[in-house]
Amino acid sequence: MANKYKAILLLLTLLLPLNGYTWGFFAHQRINRLAVFALPPEMIGFYKKHIRYITENAVNPDKRRYAVEGEAPRHYIDLDVYGDSALYNMPRFWQEAVDKYTEDTLMAYGIVPWHINRMKYQLTQAFKDRNVDRILRLSTEIGHYVADACVPLHTTQNYNGQLTGQRGIHGFWESRLPELFSDNYDFFVGQSSYIEQPQLKAWSLVASAHTALDSVLYLERELTQEFDEEKKYGFELRNNLTTRVYSRAFSEAYSKRLNGQVERQMRLAIQTVASYWYTAWVDAGQPDLRQLADLSEAELQQLEMEKKEYEQGNHIPREEGDG
Ligand SMILES: [Zn+2]
Repeated sequence: MANKYKAILLLLTLLLPLNGYTWGFFAHQRINRLAVFALPPEMIGFYKKHIRYITENAVNPDKRRYAVEGEAPRHYIDLDVYGDSALYNMPRFWQEAVDKYTEDTLMAYGIVPWHINRMKYQLTQAFKDRNVDRILRLSTEIGHYVADACVPLHTTQNYNGQLTGQRGIHGFWESRLPELFSDNYDFFVGQSSYIEQPQLKAWSLVASAHTALDSVLYLERELTQEFDEEKKYGFELRNNLTTRVYSRAFSEAYSKRLNGQVERQMRLAIQTVASYWYTAWVDAGQPDLRQLADLSEAELQQLEMEKKEYEQGNHIPREEGDG
């Protein structure tokens, strides 16, 4: 009987999809929210006032991934497509990269570092224009892309371990682990700092993520060999659905072996998000944010509309739950 039960469980395990989306909605929201507290006194009042907006909308870029053409490649870069030393050889600036590889190729394999720089430029412009709607929208969204650039699995073609028999690892690393353990992370990151070279900074995020990639994959594989299949996974009730998840024991063991990696990458994201906001504001001539108006009625309606579109839309996530 026990064996039969085991077999059924195993079958269920194989049939059920693994749940996971992206830095999880959870981590994206947390990163944006905590970035507010790393801002200098001249900025923190305005951002605190809008902290709910900045937190809740942190995941909008993921929500429109399947609806808006050209959105998906903004979240990642498949560096390994460009060869072993891509991290060192890849042109850092958009035009040089286009000249070398063509825009079609870049769009096919992801553009996150260039997109961050573009957002920074637009955010600077929004500060210059004192345009509250744009400042909030762009601040919120650059936060999303910066966080994505800090995730190791956003820098590879093997983004969900699908090429190495580790399907599900994407959501495991960026959703499951932060959800389980981030209450114990130290998120005090100090104050934001001025970014001298926004484009190169975006690349340094990608570099830090990509350098961590080997251990993300290797350690999971190593651990899998030490765990029985039925101990590796478990079931949890989510939104009234029985969902297959990586078990708590497996998650704990993996987290331990990663030795603070998820925490480090989240801290890097928080500090860097605040620093891009700060840099855009400085480059715009440090406008007095206390003088700014509130979000316009039009922007509020627009947000409401986007939310509805998402809720009604047909947005079947790809099975990897990419973010
Ligand atoms: Zn994303």
